[in-house]
Amino acid sequence: MSTTDIPVIGHWIDGAVRASQSGRTAPVHNPATGAVSAHVALADQAEIDEAIASAQRGFETWSRFSIAKRQTVLFAFRELLNSRKAELAQIITAEHGKVVSDAMGEILRGQEVVELATGFPHLIKGAFSENASTGIDVYSIKQPLGVVGIVSPFNFPAMVPMWFFPIAIAAGNSVVLKPSEKDPSAALWLAQLWKEAGLPDGVFTVLQGDKLAVDGLLTAPEVQSVSFVGSTPIAQYIYETASRHGKRVQALGGAKNHMLVLPDADLDLVADQAINAGYGAAGERCMAISVVLAVEPVADELIEKIVERIGRLRIGDGAGADGVEPDMGPLISAQHRDKVSGYVDIAEADGATIVVDGRGFQVEGREDGFFFGPTLIDDVPLTSRAYQEEIFGPVLEIVRVKSFQEGVDLINSGQFGNGTAIFTNDGGAARRFQNEIQVGMIGINVPIPVPVAYHSFGGWKQSLFGDAKAYGVHGFDFFTREKAVTSRWLDPATRGQSDARGINL
Ligand code: NAD
Repeated sequence: MSTTDIPVIGHWIDGAVRASQSGRTAPVHNPATGAVSAHVALADQAEIDEAIASAQRGFETWSRFSIAKRQTVLFAFRELLNSRKAELAQIITAEHGKVVSDAMGEILRGQEVVELATGFPHLIKGAFSENASTGIDVYSIKQPLGVVGIVSPFNFPAMVPMWFFPIAIAAGNSVVLKPSEKDPSAALWLAQLWKEAGLPDGVFTVLQGDKLAVDGLLTAPEVQSVSFVGSTPIAQYIYETASRHGKRVQALGGAKNHMLVLPDADLDLVADQAINAGYGAAGERCMAISVVLAVEPVADELIEKIVERIGRLRIGDGAGADGVEPDMGPLISAQHRDKVSGYVDIAEADGATIVVDGRGFQVEGREDGFFFGPTLIDDVPLTSRAYQEEIFGPVLEIVRVKSFQEGVDLINSGQFGNGTAIFTNDGGAARRFQNEIQVGMIGINVPIPVPVAYHSFGGWKQSLFGDAKAYGVHGFDFFTREKAVTSRWLDPATRGQSDARGINL
């Protein structure tokens, strides 16, 4: 492809692709080959204003649709998504790099939220108290907010937006989604699907862009709320800026998830799960396991089992070659690969043992791809930045601890609190772990405890700002505003006006 043939990915405004006039773009890569596959438009202020104005019009139409009509559109969207999700998986792999089955996995987790949202009438129906005081009824109604903004990260270009928009739309809001500029095409595919499902134009808008577009959403008076998922410093910025502008905010940040392995655990099970949770999606998951806390004396045996399994991992183009899918694809960009590599350098310089070294890893025939090999680090010092910070790559760190309590204290002393897991056959220890750990999502013999759609997703500490979690009941509360009505109608049999109208009671 010559540079002039490279397509420019536009916005989705008023129910159609909208080419950008901003003159600003960013490259989109196929991470497996390193090639630039497209450029994505970066909105200017005029396009931000246009997107929000369209969404405002969309809201005025959509919020008047009956519950039954809205539900019909949601069911149609669910059916289309279910039947055509393989197309979306290919799009995700081509821009993100994860293996196709993993892309399919993220779509399925997003689809769960769509399915939850189809039952929205039950979740937004409010409450009624008859005769709260004599002759007085009190009831609450839940209404949509208006235009809501979603800003999503690169690592789940379909699932993370689907944590929010099915519920937002079901509740009668209109959505402006600002996807990651690194993999912007999944959002456009989803927009087209909404159109086919019968959603009126303007209810689902895709605004491609960078900080300028995000700041536009954070400050526009028409935007009532912002739902953000991404790194901690940006989550904090979003939370503070949007709050200052009077908006509701969901702001989910980064993570450094620990798995605590007690000596009674089944070490084969633990090694299998550590491989899946540490290296799946090349470690680019906010719920990935980054640190294995091994309660001695199990560390040496566990390392041996993990190393043996790493040796069997196939790393390659996530789209597969010759009909065979690898276990792990590349990282999102050359810059990110170099950052991950830098963390391994730091760990080494700080005295850790690099047991398996993924630096400089190459895939034959894909030498320009952004690959990084699975890496295992032992005895990483707790003072090392490589232990304390989120690496977001296929790097698993082993820390040896002497007791259950030392492990719990270490997890609780970290800056993040997204996910954690304990592996044990001791129910009492698991129960104590669940009670004492300062983390939002906990797995008991489950390494990546992402809650199902009817519970809610969210961490503690630097992993979530504010108190609004994603989806589940939190999601419906977030995307609706409650009104309480106190009402008195006079009884026509006594002193109401009905008597005057001749109603014979
Ligand atoms: P990121 O914070 O760099 O970007 C996220 C979004 O914010 C993107 O749309 C980006 O365009 C925008 N953005 C970036 N810089 C900005 C700025 N200065 N001002 C305004 N907007 C800005 O995150 P990423 O690299 O795309 O995603 C990886 C991060 O997301 C990791 O830290 C990961 O842990 C986190 N994450 C968290 C969860 C969770 O549920 N807690 C889920 C997925 C990913």
